[in-house]
Amino acid sequence: MEQAFYNQLAGQSIANETLARSTALEILTSEKVELLPLLNAAFEVRKKFVGKEVLIHIIDNVQNGFCPEDCHYCAQARSSDADIEEYPLKSDAEILAEAKNAYEKGAFRHCMVFAGRGPSATRVAHIARLIREIKTKYPPLQVCVSSGLLDEGNAKILKEAGLDRLNHNLNTSQHNYPNICTTHTYADRLNTLAAARRADLQLCSGVIVGMGETSNDILEVACTLRRLGVESIPVNFYIPIEGNMLGAALGLSPEYCLRVLCLFRLLNPRAEIRAAAGRELHLRSMQVMALYPANSLFLDGYLNTKGDDRRRTLQMIKDAGFTINSDHSVDELLGKEGSTFEVSPDAPAEQVPMKKLQDLRIFMSTPTT
Ligand code: SF4
Repeated sequence: MEQAFYNQLAGQSIANETLARSTALEILTSEKVELLPLLNAAFEVRKKFVGKEVLIHIIDNVQNGFCPEDCHYCAQARSSDADIEEYPLKSDAEILAEAKNAYEKGAFRHCMVFAGRGPSATRVAHIARLIREIKTKYPPLQVCVSSGLLDEGNAKILKEAGLDRLNHNLNTSQHNYPNICTTHTYADRLNTLAAARRADLQLCSGVIVGMGETSNDILEVACTLRRLGVESIPVNFYIPIEGNMLGAALGLSPEYCLRVLCLFRLLNPRAEIRAAAGRELHLRSMQVMALYPANSLFLDGYLNTKGDDRRRTLQMIKDAGFTINSDHSVDELLGKEGSTFEVSPDAPAEQVPMKKLQDLRIFMSTPTT
């Protein structure tokens, strides 16, 4: 494609015009749309609305397993034989310690995930107490909760407690939904998002790519989230876990994952687009490129799977010239983690200290005679 095509993509997105269906599908599937200028078009939109800042999210899986639902991709589902460490709800002290840890590790947003179909009235009151306490102790920390299906009354209770955002992912298209879950419907998910919106909560809702869907399905999710004006969109890449109903991930290349991120940015220009679970597994050596369309990452792994270590992720953000939105700078956080190069705090910023040759030398075995 000529440069004019990419300029037009960025221009239309910045003007909040939607893309023609054929163009959106070309972004995902056509070799004529080249990756680098596409990433640059998405980056133009990102810069316009959210600059070069990265928002760091840290998840607390406050209860693991015991879920009666059968989401086929989830290791906590009743249908899964995955060998996870099940545990009931953590104590309040543990949950608050996790929030403190997230704040100190530079998180912009802390997300507490409660497995289950949806919370009881008692559980909602409990979550509300936790939110109040976290917001009082760490006021800059944005709080998000993922607690399954929710009605408007309960959403209002959480809003009044100080909740900033409710997470409830669409995960896939309406058409594909029965293939990934049979215990609740797509409409149930949309109803929860509508209830949260009526309660004046911000919405976090995203997709899992790689669950046997078509490019049309991915486009449908991106368009639905645009229509709903969702503020935060986690773009997850399916992590196959042994024992889950869904099985292996199908044909996700790093390039395709990046194309998906660009599509979500171009169709949701002002949203927080997160390169979420599975970024390490599927983007591999191309991970850093995700920062051009996406402005948000998880730090410290996911619900039942590890992510890159903190230092690696922070170093990637710094090396690519991005900053983080936090009370703590990337340099300060890297200092706490112990930087790769162990730069002294007094050294000029770009100085790499002298290394002992014996630490760098290629190991050679002693010749035998
Ligand atoms: S409702 Fe949530 S925790 Fe339960 S199976 Fe579905 S995704 Fe997993």
